[in-house]
Amino acid sequence: MDNGLIGGFSPHQIVGAVTNRRFELILLPTEKCNLRCTYCYEDFAIGRMSDETQSAIEQLLARRVPDLQHLNFSWFGGEPLVAKDVVLRLSRFAAELCKRHGVRFSGGLTTNAVQLTPELMVHLLDCNQNFFQITLDGWGATHDAVRKYANGRGSFDAIWRNLRAIKALEREFEIVLRVHVRRENIADLDELMRQVGEEFSGDERFRLDFQHLRDLGGTGGKTIQRPVTMSELFELETHFRRVFAEATPRARQNGDAQSSVSMEAFATRLSSESAGSRRSEEMAEGGGYICYAAKPNSLLVRADGRLAKCTVAFDDDRNTIGKINPDGTLTIDNEKLAPWVRGFIDLDAGSLACPLQSMHLVAPRTRATASQQNA
Ligand code: SF4
Repeated sequence: MDNGLIGGFSPHQIVGAVTNRRFELILLPTEKCNLRCTYCYEDFAIGRMSDETQSAIEQLLARRVPDLQHLNFSWFGGEPLVAKDVVLRLSRFAAELCKRHGVRFSGGLTTNAVQLTPELMVHLLDCNQNFFQITLDGWGATHDAVRKYANGRGSFDAIWRNLRAIKALEREFEIVLRVHVRRENIADLDELMRQVGEEFSGDERFRLDFQHLRDLGGTGGKTIQRPVTMSELFELETHFRRVFAEATPRARQNGDAQSSVSMEAFATRLSSESAGSRRSEEMAEGGGYICYAAKPNSLLVRADGRLAKCTVAFDDDRNTIGKINPDGTLTIDNEKLAPWVRGFIDLDAGSLACPLQSMHLVAPRTRATASQQNA
């Protein structure tokens, strides 16, 4: 034990990941998407979650919530807001249930934000879904070059319009603006940083996270030939944050970039998973990164009712660990589940950070380092 950490992890982290008083559900209301990003690894084969599966989740919650202290939803897809009615139905159900039983309920979405209008945002906030991970790939046309609708039209204007409108809401939320760094957009990211600095600096509800774009599989992954390395990313992030700081209105006024930059965000790049970067409260806990796939009390429900652990290896059978039954009971293959959670036997940092990697489930499309796989 060193600095209160056990094997590099805080007691709070460890207990939080194994206790049956906490339940983390990663939910895929649809596996379809309204965009066709050039680098995407998903195949969009499975559509919207059926009414039967939604009812099953409600029955599962009705059974589990009375014994919980904390329930958390992470919405992922596809694009979850393509099935926003499913997101709202289950979130409202859970919010009401948790309120009745005095259980803390939180949640968030990994979304492209094309449909995240302020009106929808208010509905989501009203049922405690208040954490959002939104990716930007550049300013305007540079973003649009890789983030297109099926008809080829770019998505940047809709996303930027929604972000600005959401900023005007007098509500509490946390938005992580995840910036993808790739060789082709490096020159353009200064402009994105200037615009983001102008618009969002000083508003603590928004923060930045930098990730290098890399091959996460599928045909989309093949489009990324020479990803930015981690050491390059570190240097680039330092530069981009400086540009961001210099663009903030207060910095320009005082001639002092450091006066308005939030250095806290440097830490956010370390490891962020696909179904949502960590909230600031989780990062404040300290300790190493534990992927949700490694946590015994975290479960992913796919749109077709199959249960999984990892949000990257969707086409790997070892990631299908069971299914939710129509009555809300779970059928789980414990032999398939065990390798995902074995990091807790000896607090092995590698297994906890990315059980997929440590299980040698490295299919060609996911052949990357643990940190690279944190999509
Ligand atoms: S690839 Fe690794 S780090 Fe990413 S979600 Fe899967 S198990 Fe977790």
